[in-house]
Amino acid sequence: MAGMMLRSRFPTLAAAAALLAAPVAAQQDFSAVEVTAEHVSGPVHMLTGAGGNIGVSAGEDGILIIDDQFEPLADKIRAALAAISPGDLEFVLNTHFHFDHTGGNVVFGREALIVAHTNVRKRLAEGAGVMGRPGEPAPKEALPVVTYDDGLSIHFNGEEIVVGHLTGGHTDGDSFIYFTNSNVVHLGDQFFAGRFPFVDIGNGGNAVGLRDSIGEVLEHLPADAKVIPGHGALSSVDDLKMYHRMLTECVATVEAGKDAGKSVEEIQAAGLPDEWEGWGSGFINESAFIGFIFESL
Ligand SMILES: [Zn+2]
Repeated sequence: MAGMMLRSRFPTLAAAAALLAAPVAAQQDFSAVEVTAEHVSGPVHMLTGAGGNIGVSAGEDGILIIDDQFEPLADKIRAALAAISPGDLEFVLNTHFHFDHTGGNVVFGREALIVAHTNVRKRLAEGAGVMGRPGEPAPKEALPVVTYDDGLSIHFNGEEIVVGHLTGGHTDGDSFIYFTNSNVVHLGDQFFAGRFPFVDIGNGGNAVGLRDSIGEVLEHLPADAKVIPGHGALSSVDDLKMYHRMLTECVATVEAGKDAGKSVEEIQAAGLPDEWEGWGSGFINESAFIGFIFESL
């Protein structure tokens, strides 16, 4: 229902939904995808392939991963992990429910404990769709077995790994994961490095909530922390500050237009401040991002 309203009010989003659906068709070919590892700090590594960046803790207690991309990449992910450490996979954390972050759950859930926010389990279990792309209920082995509303800690590989819920940002089930000794945070899709984020309004996301959540993270994060984004390159706190400034200025621009009685089309025609030109990518172009903010206000 909400999705239909969204589509009829924002034709650009209907086009965006079609683009979003295209690359995730069942026939998508993952054979050319390479999964590569990058050392971040201490036992923490980052894997990139297709879909969301994977955070890794590998050490004497075994292996913990944050997000697991797509099911067809499971063997490549496993090979990349084996090259880092011979340990067993013990935990899979999901930053949120989207298919490009949880597709490997169905494989890794058979051997490791999946941990996620309550709404991640709920949406995976019901097969929540994303922007008009229908979902399918996930099988039991792909579902989180440990869930939380606010957060929890995992004591693993010599440090406390703090997991906390961030309210109403990219979806309604987002978490950050902070490695306290390594001083690394994985922000999932609350952070798209150097580009406009997707805001999944149909699944409880909100651009204003996202701005506020990132502001809250910045208040607590040490200045020399390393930041793993959901999409994009390994980042610094300065990169995250610039992203927060982008969110703040773009929300203010759209809010001023809306307060002045302008339609979303008029705000889209006027555009966002020039500094953020080039931050649109793929289906999240400037007009789509303005649409997300307009709908969030
Ligand atoms: Zn996402």
